Amino acid sequence: MSLERSIAIDGPAGAGKSTVARMLAHALGYRYVSTGDLYRALALEVLRRGLDPYNEAAVLEVAKSVSMRVEPTGDGAQRTILNNEDVTDEIRTAEVDAIVSPVSVYVEVRKYMVEAQRAIAFDVDVVMDGRDIGTVVLAESAHKFYLTASPEERARRRQRDYARKGCHVELADLVDEINRRDEVDSTRQVSPLRPAPDAVLIDCTTLSPEEVVETMLAALGRPDACCIISQNP
Ligand code: C5P
Repeated sequence: MSLERSIAIDGPAGAGKSTVARMLAHALGYRYVSTGDLYRALALEVLRRGLDPYNEAAVLEVAKSVSMRVEPTGDGAQRTILNNEDVTDEIRTAEVDAIVSPVSVYVEVRKYMVEAQRAIAFDVDVVMDGRDIGTVVLAESAHKFYLTASPEERARRRQRDYARKGCHVELADLVDEINRRDEVDSTRQVSPLRPAPDAVLIDCTTLSPEEVVETMLAALGRPDACCIISQNP
């Protein structure tokens, strides 16, 4: 069953999950799914409607009334669709970063999200990344990883992501933002960020994405798949 074969990757913001998840999915022929993008789409809609992200009833109403989905692209990435509009770029802004963790704490909101994410993994083998994938969404998975890296390294990676889009963001601001998000994500009552008991822990601070994927493939008993690792599948 695809829920058992699928691969769960969790970890804090900026640990490099999406890069390695995409590479791993490519190497194995699985679909890559970033669940954070669905929470980001919800946060974007809360912003667009001018609502208070700390108002649980208002956020739940948004979750119930919007249509959100992620679609695979031909190059192994994914697009995020909100009410039939492609918002892939709009969900990666400082404004969304600032409220995405607060809108992700509510139990009823998470029920919607988890259901939608599990539905994807019922249909197809996935490499799915997020915060509660190994503990909740793909709890049945036999293959779980938890990636970490130092806050400074994670901030540097996010700074490079912003630079690629032509934006300069101060490192200190990114360290603050990452620490704030980690704090909310790991202390919330519902599905807090933490490794599943059976997850393989990988500290990525000094590892390249290729080295992380090689470590994962070895843990999965698929070192043969290493030859098709590519950063830009
Ligand atoms: O993965 P990404 O950093 O884009 O996720 C954005 C935010 O969405 C996280 O900081 C977290 O608050 C929320 N999230 C979550 N559960 C997931 C994925 C993301 O609560 N499975």
